[in-house]
Amino acid sequence: MSDTIFGKITRGEIPSDFLYEDDQCVVIRDISPQAPTHVLVIPRTPIPRLVDADVEHQALLGHLMLVVGRVAQQLGVGDGFRLVVNNGEDGGQTVFHLHLHILAGQPMDEADT
Ligand code: 5GP
Repeated sequence: MSDTIFGKITRGEIPSDFLYEDDQCVVIRDISPQAPTHVLVIPRTPIPRLVDADVEHQALLGHLMLVVGRVAQQLGVGDGFRLVVNNGEDGGQTVFHLHLHILAGQPMDEADT
């Protein structure tokens, strides 16, 4: 499986400010934010795309959802955010290490993300 920038970030090989981290995932700000709040929830396990997740990842995927809620509350956007997973090139995915985008801080019905 090929490594990605997110593999290096989750392993600490590229210094990053983690807004949150635990043994299963890290949360960082997106380098090119598409909304006033734009953070990425990245599992430490390098699943390339959502469709590559298997039953063995079920607990991890559930954990990521709980982290989304916790981090959104911490960032003060718990009452309004959009959660995005781009899957595959045609889905707009550019980094092939599964990650969840939390986007907030503007009316999401006016956003193009
Ligand atoms: P995708 O298009 O794969 O769903 O999202 C990848 C996201 O990662 C993009 O929003 C892009 O701006 C962000 N990104 C790419 N490289 C880096 C990086 O080195 N650091 C951070 N913080 N974000 C990155």
